[in-house]
Amino acid sequence: MSKTIAVLGSTGSIGRQTLAVARELGLAVAALTAKSSLDLLERQAREFLPELVVLYDMEAAAEMARRLRGLPIRVAYGMEGLTEAASLDRADTVVTAVVGMVGLRPTLAAIQKGKRIALANKETLVCAGELVMEEAKRCGAEIVPVDSEHSAIFQCLQGCRDRGEVKRLILTCSGGPFYGRSFAQLEGVTVEEALRHPNWSMGAKITVDSATLMNKGLECIEAMRLYRLPPEQVSVVIHRQSIVHSLVEFHDGAMLAQLGTPDMKLPIRYALTYPRRAPSPDEPLDLLRCPSLTFAPPDEEAFPCLSLALRCARTGGTACAVLNGANEAAVGRFLRGEIGFNDISRLVEKALDAIEVKWNPTLADILEADRQARSVVLDGACVLEESK
Ligand code: NAD
Ligand code: MG
Repeated sequence: MSKTIAVLGSTGSIGRQTLAVARELGLAVAALTAKSSLDLLERQAREFLPELVVLYDMEAAAEMARRLRGLPIRVAYGMEGLTEAASLDRADTVVTAVVGMVGLRPTLAAIQKGKRIALANKETLVCAGELVMEEAKRCGAEIVPVDSEHSAIFQCLQGCRDRGEVKRLILTCSGGPFYGRSFAQLEGVTVEEALRHPNWSMGAKITVDSATLMNKGLECIEAMRLYRLPPEQVSVVIHRQSIVHSLVEFHDGAMLAQLGTPDMKLPIRYALTYPRRAPSPDEPLDLLRCPSLTFAPPDEEAFPCLSLALRCARTGGTACAVLNGANEAAVGRFLRGEIGFNDISRLVEKALDAIEVKWNPTLADILEADRQARSVVLDGACVLEESK
């Protein structure tokens, strides 16, 4: 069980819920980090009095240092600051709740210090999962997933002594706000519509990923890495109610699932208290009042991001890093109103077709694949818009 945590990305959706759980469990906080949001981070710092506060942005860090003058809190900035926050001796657990590939180096730093990683930052495992998992094994660092599907699987696997008994993992998927629409019907959807998720309230990037189903594709790759299974043993089922958080099917025909209300505090709490369970102050799922549970296959034609991700999962090498980098850049452009919803999958496919895959990649190869993917998406802008 964790006693002192460092929270990377404490001002985001997962970060704020992590601090709510820390408050509830009486955990100490050694470090808090954010990109640039000063006011909330300042309030969090005054409440939890961490030894280190980090802002990615240098100017915001200088302003924070002024605001926190007189308190026993150091302020740092940039990737160096983020990495330091992940490596502090005092923290036994690092909650990786930043969004995007920017979480990779700090996660590796925390692993090298042998800390428990409460991992929300899925992009890290998608880009460099093999490397991250090998390093965790070498350093004896535990990785406990925060993503609800992976936490569900982690919980279902607790009694499993032999991974050879697992037939497949079944990740549930809400289907997002555009479930039931065709690819053509998705052409004109707006940013506002894409940000309206039916069941979860999350950061903007993951909400768009949930609308394109890229999120589920990234989660298939995340599951393959966490549980060391090939793509054929990971599948997806649409489950609109988000009550069954995922399942494990065993060779004897048994299926284990974890159910609960759609509330990220449960997987966060479990990642911090594992292998124990702490009581929750929230209302539990009421089986007699919950909606009927339905299951359906995903529509990969309407949501090509899912098949692109599965294609990369089968390819391996740097393909997943290209997928992720291109997707991060394309979602950024969609959120800025520069491209349409379906251009996200078009640009990701373009990057995958343009960039050569490297096998057995080093960290440098992964960072380079990410850079190239982003540049295809950012440079490709004019061409794509002209062709409309
Ligand atoms: P969010 O956008 O709400 O928060 C992101 C956090 O990261 C913020 O604190 C922000 O300041 C920080 N950040 C952003 N860019 C940064 C940068 N360049 N450098 C340093 N810090 C930066 O996102 P979120 O919804 O909390 O998601 C965080 C991660 O957790 C993502 O990887 C997401 O896929 C994963 N996740 C989220 C949920 C959820 O319910 N929100 C569920 C499962 C997994
Ligand atoms: Mg999830």
